[in-house]
Formats: sequence, structure tokens, C-alpha cells
Amino acid sequence: MSMIENLRVIKNQGMNFFLKEQEKKYKCSECDGIICVHNSKCYSCNTQIKDIFF
Ligand SMILES: [Zn+2]
Repeated sequence: MSMIENLRVIKNQGMNFFLKEQEKKYKCSECDGIICVHNSKCYSCNTQIKDIFF
């Protein structure tokens, strides 16, 4: 996701929508833990998230 795309989403959908989408993206599907932005792995359960792009 590019910065321009981010700004477009914020402008069209609002800041709350954007933050919610980000939250979803950085959340582990296994345990609701936080996903590491560097290796796409969950901090809590170490699950590798494959379909994630930072
Ligand atoms: Zn997890």
C-alpha cells in the first residue's frame, strides 16, 4: 500500500475507517496479537502472516 493510496482512503472513507483497516491488517488471525512489521510474524504466537504487505 502506497502513501498516496493511504491518503486517498483517508480522504474518501475517513480517518476512523483507515485506522480500523490498519488495525485489522496488523492483527494476528490466530491470537489477535500484534504483527511485527519487519518479518510479518505475530509477537505473541509467532505465526507467519503471508498475505500481508507493509
Ligand atoms: Zn498470534
